[in-house]
Amino acid sequence: MTNTLTQIASRLKQGVTPQALPIPGTNQIENSAGGYSFPVNDWTRLHRFLILGTEGGSYYATEQKLSADNANGVMNCIQNDGPRVVREIVAISKAGRAPKNDQALFALALCASLGDNETRKLALDALPEVARTGTHLFHFAAFCEGARGWGRGLRRAVGRWYETMDADKLAYQALKYQARDGWSHRDLLRLAHPKPQSEAHGILYHWMTQGWPSVGDQPHDVESLRQIWAFERAKRAENESEIVSLIREYKLPREGIPTQFLTSPKVWEALLEDMPIAAMVRNLATMTKIGLLTRTSDSTKRVVSMLSDGNRIRRARLHPIAILSALTTYSSGKGVRGNATWNPVPSVIDALDSAFYTAFGSIEPTGKRWNLALDVSGSMGAYQIAGVAGLTPRVASAAMAMVTNAVEDDVQMLAFSHELRTLNLSRKQRLDDVLKAVDNIPMGATDCALPMLWAAKTKAQVDVFVIYTDNETWYGQVHPVEALRRYREESGLAAKLIVVGMVANKFSIADPNDAGMLDVVGFDTAAPQLMSDFSLNNM
Ligand code: CA
Repeated sequence: MTNTLTQIASRLKQGVTPQALPIPGTNQIENSAGGYSFPVNDWTRLHRFLILGTEGGSYYATEQKLSADNANGVMNCIQNDGPRVVREIVAISKAGRAPKNDQALFALALCASLGDNETRKLALDALPEVARTGTHLFHFAAFCEGARGWGRGLRRAVGRWYETMDADKLAYQALKYQARDGWSHRDLLRLAHPKPQSEAHGILYHWMTQGWPSVGDQPHDVESLRQIWAFERAKRAENESEIVSLIREYKLPREGIPTQFLTSPKVWEALLEDMPIAAMVRNLATMTKIGLLTRTSDSTKRVVSMLSDGNRIRRARLHPIAILSALTTYSSGKGVRGNATWNPVPSVIDALDSAFYTAFGSIEPTGKRWNLALDVSGSMGAYQIAGVAGLTPRVASAAMAMVTNAVEDDVQMLAFSHELRTLNLSRKQRLDDVLKAVDNIPMGATDCALPMLWAAKTKAQVDVFVIYTDNETWYGQVHPVEALRRYREESGLAAKLIVVGMVANKFSIADPNDAGMLDVVGFDTAAPQLMSDFSLNNM
């Protein structure tokens, strides 16, 4: 007993606590690996959930468990400050900061169902801003059905969604997906009874509830309904040139093209002319396979020019994860499922590589000395981010670190588990190669203190340590924050620590009471600029 207390007293003096024990005097909690971490506050947790989601679970928790934990976290936030939750959801969703909008819709449904009166009203008012497509609306309806049932407020909010959308946009949404998640426009219109804001709205509602029109030879009198006329015509088109002229004249999207025409380069060439950039990125392999994208074709030039257009990428909220996913699949030349193969066009791969960085927006370089450390331990190699095959937190961290590496001049990159190695990754290396290189580093136990210990030992000059991790540290003989404080003392530098959370759990290695430490969320498109601002004291 005396012996144990003596040990604790001496550790307190030296600031050295094994990670298997909590640092005395802090609110550290046991993490899933059996080590101790700080609990993140409810708002950081909400951000992690909104951005990273829970799809596929984590190394330590099933998807079900992780989702239930996060739903509880959202509920805590709603109880503390429901209006703030709505504001955070709208901000993250509207800016396209998350790879998927599903979590935002889920959290909004919780606000609309379980919040106080003010929160419920704000959530329902925000519906058109968060549910921007028919598919989003169907997701939201499915979440609400589970959480609350169909009261008057919800019916009116759904009604307003239809009333406030322009008729041509509504027609487009209707022909892309008539139903999803067990919900159709017919179901929602029957529940919500929106008022027709125009003749076109009235006709659309009628079609959606009573069935689609029979189609004559002439396009519809009302201009915003002509796309639907063309959609119906396409179903009975007999040849490729008929389809091509329907696409060109009425901007039919891919979803409106009968399957038998989807192997035709001419059809895809016409589709590409008005294709939204997200759809283009998803269909690169198909367009290459059927022979439209070649080393020299005009369509390739069009694709490369779309991917080089930063404004277009940001307007479309094309998320870096979508680009990264396309890049890794496309460059591999074979489909994730099935046995489709294609010859990837090098200029398209390079354009995807640049577009990944562009999608984060412009980031102000700070001139600071950065140490970017990737947790490559076993737990980081499990499951995947945003449902993207092969995109584990481990390889995703590498891509995220490359964003800072690309804008800053003074960067040291490290990878660690219970051992540490330096990484030499240049911006010139393509992301798919970077990911492979990091994936090939042997995995091991987790010691998040190693980057700071390494810097102290090698006398490296570091202004900002960035650690990309799931915060499940347990292996080391000293806590990361203790190692950081020791580094500050020995180096005389007020080094900061930014923790980039790569899994939506409730742990952090950052001490919330130390103003020199910050939690950000991996793959939040706003994270790199937040990191810059923090390193410059701009926040
Ligand atoms: Ca680990």
